[in-house]
Amino acid sequence: MTVWLLGDQLHPESHVLDDAERVLLIEATAFADRKPYHPQKLGLVFAAMRHARDALREAGYDVTYRRARTFGDALDAHFDARPGDDLRLMRPPSHGAAERLRHLVESRGGSLTLVDDDRFRCSPEAFDAWHDGDGFRHEDFYRWMRRREGVLMDGDDPVGGQWNYDESNRETPPDDWSPPSVPRFEPDDLTRETLDWVTEEFDTWGESTGFAWPVTRAEALDALDHFVEHRLSPFGPYQDAMVGGESALAHSLLSSSLNLGLLGPREVIDAAVDAWERDAAPVESVEGFVRQVLGWREFMRHVYRRTMPDLVESDLLSRSRDLPPLYEGEETSMRCLDEAVSHVYDRGYAHHIERLMVLSNFASLYGADPQELNEWFHFGFVDAYHWVTTPNVLGMGTFATDVFTSKPYVSSGNYVDRMSDHCAACAYDVDATTGDDACPFNALYWDFLDDHEETLRGTGRMGLMYSHLDRKDDAELSAIRERAATVRRRARDGQL
Ligand code: FAD
Repeated sequence: MTVWLLGDQLHPESHVLDDAERVLLIEATAFADRKPYHPQKLGLVFAAMRHARDALREAGYDVTYRRARTFGDALDAHFDARPGDDLRLMRPPSHGAAERLRHLVESRGGSLTLVDDDRFRCSPEAFDAWHDGDGFRHEDFYRWMRRREGVLMDGDDPVGGQWNYDESNRETPPDDWSPPSVPRFEPDDLTRETLDWVTEEFDTWGESTGFAWPVTRAEALDALDHFVEHRLSPFGPYQDAMVGGESALAHSLLSSSLNLGLLGPREVIDAAVDAWERDAAPVESVEGFVRQVLGWREFMRHVYRRTMPDLVESDLLSRSRDLPPLYEGEETSMRCLDEAVSHVYDRGYAHHIERLMVLSNFASLYGADPQELNEWFHFGFVDAYHWVTTPNVLGMGTFATDVFTSKPYVSSGNYVDRMSDHCAACAYDVDATTGDDACPFNALYWDFLDDHEETLRGTGRMGLMYSHLDRKDDAELSAIRERAATVRRRARDGQL
């Protein structure tokens, strides 16, 4: 029997390694020819795999590390060396992956034993037994998980008497606030060599220099410690804020490590709760963080599992425009978009509100094809994997599906103005809707509501938005439509 570790299953104490004699890691590259992945994403995954190989060898495992174009090619070599071998694999979360891998193994005369994925706290069986089949509601799931895991609980009640401190997570920092430092993990020789090879070998999109992501378990643990000590407290109040020139603010930057398996969700949650118990972070911040990891991350995985393959095909609003060139990094005078795209280009990262209320908001209002946006997120972000990117982009980001959200997360320039300092220094006027210097978000927003009225007016919580639209007379609406058409044309032509 050989344990087969996929490139995002790198936790050295994963249960799949229990009693393992041999370990197989396959560095397959064919996938990277299909899309212009961010060089830091490819570099991160391959460097983390190579470091995991070395660490497992040091820990005494007999590790075979195969570099090949495809899994099939590597498995041919594996079964030539070990005919009929049984491979033990942790069930991958991407739709259909387990079946595809089983076929590859069995067609070469081997067998595949699947074990549970311990990178999550809630198993598919537990979720399915809990879920009553009536829609997917995050808040219900989150409370159930808090009770089930006994996190921030006082008996059967939440500590502090409140389940959710969302209201306290929407502040903007004062002008004189500077975000706490972000740790940088300088590439060692192995990582450097991997990054050089990636940039030579593949057609990529994004900056390859400045790589500073954790690639080993030790570095990921340092990143966690650093976050808990220096950024967890301000993470709470400033979770939704955006500040010019700052890509991370007080966000944890832990998603790439969690999704590679370098960190486990429970240890991350425990570290945050421990800070609250030591009075080192307020409950509003700790709960806000726990909600993301124990709530949203786990929830998204199950929504994805339960709604694929329909999820990835969906678009309630039938949008089909190509993504405008600003998503390729072409400059725009919209400061918020320019900043958010440059964060992705430079690091393969943008924080949640930039992803949701800038990058997805603009694509949604512009009418871009949600599947194309999903692809863009998938190749551009260091933490992107199909199971997590897809529900975030299609559900939360673009309202291509209403399986777990009752309304689209769209807004005019007003939201960006409230949550950031971008608008004050932007070439566009956030208070204007029409006219050449009007913030493009404004006309696009009203035009979007007008355009999709048939689908959106009746959905849950859109009443207030439509009551504002209803107050606009025909002349105003016609000017809005004209301005929205101009904005779309200029965005398409790279002239925004
Ligand atoms: P923090 O803000 O510090 O949050 C802590 C952790 O909570 C994250 O590390 C992450 O593990 C988890 N988390 C928070 N929100 C979510 C969520 N909605 N779904 C899943 N996990 C969550 N997250 C990814 O891991 N990969 C993606 O490809 C991805 N694509 C996204 C696309 C869009 C359009 C949107 C709106 C969100 C996306 N997210 C994705 C969720 C979230 O934005 C990122 O997890 C987060 O920004 C990562 O940065 P961080 O580690 O600093 O997170």
